[in-house]
Amino acid sequence: MIKTGAQHTASLRDGRQVYINGGLAGDVTRHPAFQRSVESVARLYDFQAAEENRDLMTYEIPGGGGERANRIWQLPRSHAEMVERRKGLEAWTELHAGFLGRSPDHVASCIAGMYMGRDVFHDHDPKRAAALEDYYRYARDNELYLTYVIINPQADRSKGAHEQQDKFLAAGVVDEDDEGLTIRGAKMLATGGIMANEVFVTCIQPLRPGEEPYAVSFAVPMNAPGLKLMSRKSYEAAAPSVFDNPLASRFDENDAVVYFDDVKVPWDRVFVNQDTAMCMKQFQATPAHVHQNYQAQIRLMVKMRFLMGLARRIADTNGTLEFPQVRETLGALAAQNTMVDALVHSMEIKGQQWGEYFVPDRHTLYSAQVLTQQMHSQVMTTLRDMAGGGLIMLPSSVEDFANPELRELIGKTQQSPAASSEGRVKFFKLAWDAIGSEFASRHTQYEMFYAGASFVTKGHSFRTFDWDRCTGLVDQMLDSYSLEEELAAINVAAQ
Ligand SMILES: Cc1cc2nc3c(=O)[nH]c(=O)nc-3n(C[C@H](O)[C@H](O)[C@H](O)COP(=O)(O)OP(=O)(O)OC[C@H]3O[C@@H](n4cnc5c(N)ncnc54)[C@H](O)[C@@H]3O)c2cc1C
Repeated sequence: MIKTGAQHTASLRDGRQVYINGGLAGDVTRHPAFQRSVESVARLYDFQAAEENRDLMTYEIPGGGGERANRIWQLPRSHAEMVERRKGLEAWTELHAGFLGRSPDHVASCIAGMYMGRDVFHDHDPKRAAALEDYYRYARDNELYLTYVIINPQADRSKGAHEQQDKFLAAGVVDEDDEGLTIRGAKMLATGGIMANEVFVTCIQPLRPGEEPYAVSFAVPMNAPGLKLMSRKSYEAAAPSVFDNPLASRFDENDAVVYFDDVKVPWDRVFVNQDTAMCMKQFQATPAHVHQNYQAQIRLMVKMRFLMGLARRIADTNGTLEFPQVRETLGALAAQNTMVDALVHSMEIKGQQWGEYFVPDRHTLYSAQVLTQQMHSQVMTTLRDMAGGGLIMLPSSVEDFANPELRELIGKTQQSPAASSEGRVKFFKLAWDAIGSEFASRHTQYEMFYAGASFVTKGHSFRTFDWDRCTGLVDQMLDSYSLEEELAAINVAAQ
């Protein structure tokens, strides 16, 4: 049940249809656009399968006859269990420093959240609830790496899915029979799709009357007949040297448009069928949305620590650490880092019981989303400001070191009070890949949008805040004095 990296890699050789640079990619595990990222995911599975990480990364399934599963599927029943699970997720994230946004723990957290709220599915339709429950157990027991596509493609955002020029631009139901649904159309982006086992498909955007065909929720394997993944440009393919692009070469998780060319979905994988209200409820009336985004904040917490490490190392490498202004900048960055850390702990401590389960505090999670969405770009700008031209003053590629004459010149021109010339180049190439490269730029876009545009996250924060408690204080203050009392006092004085 606890799979290894080799087993995961082998599972991707399943005939999936991934298109890149004008044709089919074939075996993604051996393709220069994807191979090293697949290897990074394999390392995650090897880490969890290692005997010494057994308790950290796996848990005993309650009522499961002693069987264990990865903690990403765990359904915490108390604050203590939630913290235990988080420590596993944190350790996993440290293997990629937070650069795999849709690592297997993200969508697993979403499906686990839906399972915790399965009563909502029962109220909708017992058959669909049974399908969801079965799928949670199936994905957990087979250790599936799931990704999801939950946003319709951009086209005309002022119109609904049914009002676009092509009725099947957005993926929707084209047919329904005894066996299941047939789906046609596209979804915007499957991050990690090329190296996941299955894709969970639904719509998290509010849907209006008339958009019922798009109000579905289901899961299919990546090699389902008719399912096509259209990869964006691969940063990994453009980064053959790990030394030159240590992140892009190994953690380019890929994003792909998904097209459903009349894909057949059996009923036992359909969780919501053409119900716009239920499509929203599956996220908001269950712990799913909170649980999946809590994972995202754990990931960001680790990534922030990595970025703090870069900031400190920039100052060390350039000999700027003793400048008061640089210390001030580092102090401000450290405070931002600690805010993220504190928010994660706060959503745990303020968590609430949801039936038998313990879930993170919803408003604290949404506050974290709003604040970190803004903060990430600020941190990137601050790191650029600290580093100056050091991010650019670099040898063209690792091949420069292979030329003895150039290597000597690099030694003369790349100097630091804290590192060898080679160490300085190595560090600043890593920093550039985290801050400024095309890979880094995509990451900034990711942090700005993975949880929805900022008006969406701010909307969640607005809806879930305890306004009454605040306006109550204002009312209490207003009630503590009155115009009448003061006028009465003036009248008494005037008499
Ligand atoms: C790197 C990356 C990876 C992603 N990975 C995934 C994934 O794995 N799975 C997945 O399902 N999705 C994924 N997404 C998609 C992501 O969820 C969306 O980008 C996000 O929900 C925002 O939707 P959008 O991009 O269509 O932007 P839009 O909703 O079109 O918003 C773009 C901008 O338009 C304006 N705007 C649009 N609509 C309104 C409105 N109603 N009111 C006010 N202003 C508005 C705002 O300025 C907004 O910032 C990914 C996106 C990125 C960038």
